[in-house]
Amino acid sequence: MSKGTILSGMRPTGRLHIGHLSVLENWAGLQDEYKCFFMVADLHSLTTKFDDTADLPNDTRQMVLDWLSVGIDPVKSAVFVQSAVREHAELHLYFSMNAPLTWLERCPTYKDQLAQFEKQGKDITTYGFLGYPLLQAADILVYLADTVPVGEDQLPHIELTREIARRFNFLYKTDLFPEPKALLGRFPLVPGVDGRKMSKSYGNDIAISAASDEVKKRVNAMVTDPQRIRREDPGHPEVCIVHKYQEIYNNELLEYVQQACRSAERGCVACKQELLEIVEQMLAPVRERRARYENSSYDDLRQYILNVKENLAGQSNSQANDNDNDNGKDNERLPETVVARFKEFTGTRREKNYLREIGQSIIDDYMAGVFSESDIRDLLDAKLDLVSLILVKGGQRARLKARDTIKKVREAMNLKY
Ligand code: SF4
Repeated sequence: MSKGTILSGMRPTGRLHIGHLSVLENWAGLQDEYKCFFMVADLHSLTTKFDDTADLPNDTRQMVLDWLSVGIDPVKSAVFVQSAVREHAELHLYFSMNAPLTWLERCPTYKDQLAQFEKQGKDITTYGFLGYPLLQAADILVYLADTVPVGEDQLPHIELTREIARRFNFLYKTDLFPEPKALLGRFPLVPGVDGRKMSKSYGNDIAISAASDEVKKRVNAMVTDPQRIRREDPGHPEVCIVHKYQEIYNNELLEYVQQACRSAERGCVACKQELLEIVEQMLAPVRERRARYENSSYDDLRQYILNVKENLAGQSNSQANDNDNDNGKDNERLPETVVARFKEFTGTRREKNYLREIGQSIIDDYMAGVFSESDIRDLLDAKLDLVSLILVKGGQRARLKARDTIKKVREAMNLKY
């Protein structure tokens, strides 16, 4: 039985780096115990990058590929894009009517971030930026999530969410919203290969999806002990970035690494080689999974839809029916309907060619009753790409829950017409 409902998300930043791995592995581990909603927080990215949206679609895709490659299972969890579920924005608006301004102004990150952006020459003193913790509260509460996995720096925002829930329940005499609790995780801070904060913009990151030769280049570029000039010089592991990584990824042998370094028993080349092997071992299965999602075939798409159906059927019959609400019409199984759907499809030449290739398989599946008309519509809407299809289906699942909450919110607020 599920322990509760979890909502978590990340701003779409494109390819993630290995510093994000522990957070994602934590998410992946929660999927068996909780009902999980994992959100690409694109509306949040607008609070600071409202004037720079050109990369949003590709950044979203790359980040979702990283999530999937680390083990986020889109059949178990709803993986979706925040702006595709408009109920987040609606609930944010309702909360903004009764949230005192002082609650938002006192958020510890608010003034810090304003100052940081000001130093970079960017003015983000906007209505949206001030209100983003309120949007976070809406993100969580629209799924009636009772648990939120966070790092310590996010605790004030969870506290604000609890206050918002409490205030709404009090004002409208309801017990609709739970007061969500933080599920605190301690995640090691992985430095960049030059010792600064790991960041794509500094060029000092190791991407989760990096190819072997790129990983090798990065590990070789790691800063070691600057006082260790010759192989026989004793080392000082405490100032070495390779050692910091050994501490995170090779902790069982750390004592030996330190002793061998200090006594010059081991050289930096061997130490880096060992680290490279550890990182490679960690990333190999991730790369393999990523490639499967990235180069999806019709068989993958088909299998994904079948898995989702099976999963939904296991959860609840009524929910499954909601998700597939034109099954009734499908009983007629008119091939012309499917062909008409194909004609509606507007895509690139490559997509159309792909569609032609697999068209007969789709029609066969439809005629055999494996696929419904709505399955075909989803495939076409998602432009026959597995990641897009996952986001379409994830959005549907998230919307079902969010709509139900909004209905209850409107009832509680007497918004009847
Ligand atoms: S032996 Fe390893 S820990 Fe010691 S300085 Fe060289 S790379 Fe760093």
